[in-house]
Amino acid sequence: MRILVADDDPVSCRLLDRLLHKWGYEVIAARSGTEAWEVLQADHAPRIALLDWMMPGLEGLEICRRVRARSSQPYVYIVLLTANDKVGNLVEGLESGADDYLTKPFHPQELRARLRVGLRMLDLESGLVEARENLRFKASHDALTSIWNRGAIIELLERELSRSRRDGSSVGILLADIDHFKRVNDTWGHLVGDEVLRAVTGRLKREVRSYDAVGRYGGEEFLILLPGCDNAKLTAKAEQLVKIVERSSIETSAGPVPVTISIGGIASGDCPHAEVNSLLRAADTALYRAKISGRNRSEIAQASDLDVVSAGIGATALAPETVESPTSSK
Ligand code: GH3
Ligand code: MG
Ligand code: MG
Repeated sequence: MRILVADDDPVSCRLLDRLLHKWGYEVIAARSGTEAWEVLQADHAPRIALLDWMMPGLEGLEICRRVRARSSQPYVYIVLLTANDKVGNLVEGLESGADDYLTKPFHPQELRARLRVGLRMLDLESGLVEARENLRFKASHDALTSIWNRGAIIELLERELSRSRRDGSSVGILLADIDHFKRVNDTWGHLVGDEVLRAVTGRLKREVRSYDAVGRYGGEEFLILLPGCDNAKLTAKAEQLVKIVERSSIETSAGPVPVTISIGGIASGDCPHAEVNSLLRAADTALYRAKISGRNRSEIAQASDLDVVSAGIGATALAPETVESPTSSK
């Protein structure tokens, strides 16, 4: 564990340095408050700080206040050192954000025990942060494939659409659906079906840029967002994704399983005033067309389809009512 020792007195600094090394700490020394504050602002700053109250530059108290005013950095456990043991000082120190307080001269074993308390606190804090991050991940990601879940990918779409309206760009929206996936489950079983879902996810993710997003929209349906993608680029990308899934069978525990996907898409730039739901309906209708015209192919909604979307009628109106659209049953 690295520890920041900030003290302008060289004798006290040397003593602390020797003790802390003996106890297994890696010491980072600062000779002024300003230097200590710089150390604490750096990447991978020490998580424990022993700060002298009185120092040139910044006082220990001021450093405590500044550390606590930050919001996103990892917690730093601060022990204030001072020659002044008045109760008022102790209260002021703790209220400024110090976790503990030692008056000089102190017994080495007392310092050691108080630092152990600090380590326990940091352990607890790390556990809480990890648990919170896990919860956050679970709330926004799909358990089977680890990509964005439906709620999160739609939220991303809303955000990308607002951004594209501000800067006049286009967001490419693709709905990809595995062809005859029910047959995969029926033939090889549900667990192999799951393996196929994960493998298709991997292929789609590898084929898009780092700032594109892939989410699980439904059972075997994916929603893919491509910021900065107009109709022409989207058409090429959709074809590329269809090919990459078709190119080779998916290796599963039950042997190779051939899989294809169909894609429907729309470029928001073709229809800048359409709302999220209209765009998704238009992509769904294009997907439906890809399905009925043979599967293993892609269809991007064209300007003529978009009149219907712009008019607010909704692209589902394009599909014959007697035939279910591929995602309408979800
Ligand atoms: P189409 O080409 O028209 O899309 O046919 P399809 O068989 O892919 O479509 P359908 O909607 O009839 O069936 C989708 C199947 O996907 C049914 C459902 O059991 C399966 N499925 C949905 N989620 C999962 C999952 O998480 N794991 C597995 N193994 N199967 C799933
Ligand atoms: Mg399907
Ligand atoms: Mg489906």
